[in-house]
Amino acid sequence: MNIVYISFGSNIGDREKAIEEALDLIDQNQMKITKRSNIYETEPYGYTEQPVFLNGAVEVETKLTCREVLEKLLNIEKEVGRVRKFKWGPRLIDLDIIFFNDEIYDEEDLKVPHTDMQNRDFVLKPLNELCPDIIHPVLKKTIKELLEDLKMS
Ligand code: ATP
Ligand code: CA
Ligand code: CA
Repeated sequence: MNIVYISFGSNIGDREKAIEEALDLIDQNQMKITKRSNIYETEPYGYTEQPVFLNGAVEVETKLTCREVLEKLLNIEKEVGRVRKFKWGPRLIDLDIIFFNDEIYDEEDLKVPHTDMQNRDFVLKPLNELCPDIIHPVLKKTIKELLEDLKMS
């Protein structure tokens, strides 16, 4: 069984509803949600002239491969009704793979662990509720440590 951490965010429309729909679809698509973080309201990152986000994370158990999980998540985003306008722009739902076991993927359209997670409070904070002691396979630090580093920077 594979353990996957997925971070989610929404900043337009009915954000709570979009998140609930996405999490239901995850659970119905061979990805069993085993833990779920609190949801935080956070300021936009990157392109800041847009509404505030709701962000959180889930832990999932699945037999799917990492690439299959990516495909399913992209489909779920579509199904929930995300209209992709531009990178880092507003979205109804965004689902990112943060960790897939302790595996590393470095492909054009699939990078795991997520390459910018260590710089994102809105990813690390929910993750710290789920798995503070998991070690990042590239950075060799725990989530707790990455969060401390970010707070100090
Ligand atoms: P960021 O990745 O910086 O958070 P974003 O989430 O806004 O940016 P998107 O437009 O949602 O970026 O995604 C663009 C592409 O990123 C997806 O089509 C997917 O192929 C690719 N991708 C690469 N690695 C991952 C990952 N770990 N999780 C989800 N998508 C990924
Ligand atoms: Ca993202
Ligand atoms: Ca994404």
